[in-house]
Amino acid sequence: MATLRFSFGTMGSGKSTMALQIHHNLASRDLYGLLLTTLDREGAQVTSRLGVAAQAIEVVPGLDLYKLAVDHWPLHYLVCDEAQFYTAEQCDQLARVVDDLGVDVFAFGLITDFRGELFEGTKRLLEIADERVPMQVEARCWCGARATHNARVVNGEIVYEGETVVVGDTGEQSAQPLFGDVVRYELLCRTHYRNGELGT
Ligand SMILES: [Zn+2]
Repeated sequence: MATLRFSFGTMGSGKSTMALQIHHNLASRDLYGLLLTTLDREGAQVTSRLGVAAQAIEVVPGLDLYKLAVDHWPLHYLVCDEAQFYTAEQCDQLARVVDDLGVDVFAFGLITDFRGELFEGTKRLLEIADERVPMQVEARCWCGARATHNARVVNGEIVYEGETVVVGDTGEQSAQPLFGDVVRYELLCRTHYRNGELGT
């Protein structure tokens, strides 16, 4: 039986590393599969913080993932990174790839956005996945507690409202300009997210 497995966690929980590892392991067993991602900062590839990278197919909003799998038939698996940014419809297409084509799908995604709310793709995958797997590597707040929130910091202050901006779970969490402001993301525990207390 093919399986739709969704692995989820905060930033820094090793999702892209795990995606690359699974892709490598299956490919080295002469299985054929595709690596998918969305807006990885390095372009159409999956990069991990540990410095590994592989070419990937860019998942844009209109891309039919079921048709993609059919067009690459025969294949054994899909590895889907940054799945939090996939549309609900694309997640349903992944389920169809599993059910109708018998292809294993390994999806990876961030759990919540900077407001602490589920991403669209994450919500849908939690609803429909055969297996829901929390990432075992836990990111930490500056205080040492488990990080539950990925706070958006604009000009040194946490913001709790605003647009979801597509930023991949890779590379440096360095400051980047957004609408003229200096924006960065910081992992925080629930208490320090709520109180707006940032590390140094
Ligand atoms: Zn804390």
